[in-house]
Amino acid sequence: MNIIFLGPPGAGKGTQAQRICAALNIPQISTGDILRRAIKEQTPTGLKAKSYIDAGKLVADEVIIDIVKDRLAQEDCQNGYILDGFPRTVPQAEALTHIANIDSVIELAVDDQHLINRLSGRRVCLKCGATYHISLLDGKTTCAACGEELIQRDDDKAETVLNRLTVYHDQTAPLVSFYEEKGLLHRIDGAQGMDVIFQSIMETLGVK
Ligand code: ADP
Ligand code: ADP
Ligand code: ZN
Repeated sequence: MNIIFLGPPGAGKGTQAQRICAALNIPQISTGDILRRAIKEQTPTGLKAKSYIDAGKLVADEVIIDIVKDRLAQEDCQNGYILDGFPRTVPQAEALTHIANIDSVIELAVDDQHLINRLSGRRVCLKCGATYHISLLDGKTTCAACGEELIQRDDDKAETVLNRLTVYHDQTAPLVSFYEEKGLLHRIDGAQGMDVIFQSIMETLGVK
């Protein structure tokens, strides 16, 4: 099954994608994680992308489309995947129609005030992509999955978060109607608890 997770920054895409991918044994393809790794390794793509990410702006469509095209061609994607954070613009969604057949789009809907709280407390593992919230970490500073030190993303600082929400509403939210018109969109209330959301995604996908 080829699945897209759509929603604003902080909606819970990464959290749920990780759980659903584990349950379905398919890879999670997070363009944000790929870019952050490229920055850490100082690859040409990483060097190009950094100033955009730090400012809360989107990286150029051509750069992202190439990354996704290469990733989806790999062997582990042949039995399905979850795209987490892609597409984020109409041109990206249009490019994707030439690369992949999407079976389902899960939209996690959460209002801005909730998102600001979530993003300001988010802590991430750059090594394995796991995501945590400070309110649930109990003072721990390392990743429960792999032991790496957790960090706060630079773009989760307050000034940048507001930019990212504006960018979402302007450039990514139009994808909701794009996929609604194709009959692929399933909206889930992302303000619910993590377990409830997980169950409703599994039901929506027809797996239990
Ligand atoms: P979040 O999980 O908070 O929604 P991501 O980790 O998906 O954020 O993305 C972080 C940043 O990486 C974005 O603000 C943007 O600069 C860049 N990025 C990630 N995916 C894309 C994409 N599909 N198109 C353009 N830029 C992207
Ligand atoms: P996204 O990938 O959409 O940007 P994340 O999965 O990284 O979002 O989640 C953003 C923050 O919100 C993280 O700190 C995460 O632990 C927390 N979070 C995710 N889902 C929920 C939920 N259902 N309820 C409360 N907090 C959540
Ligand atoms: Zn980790």
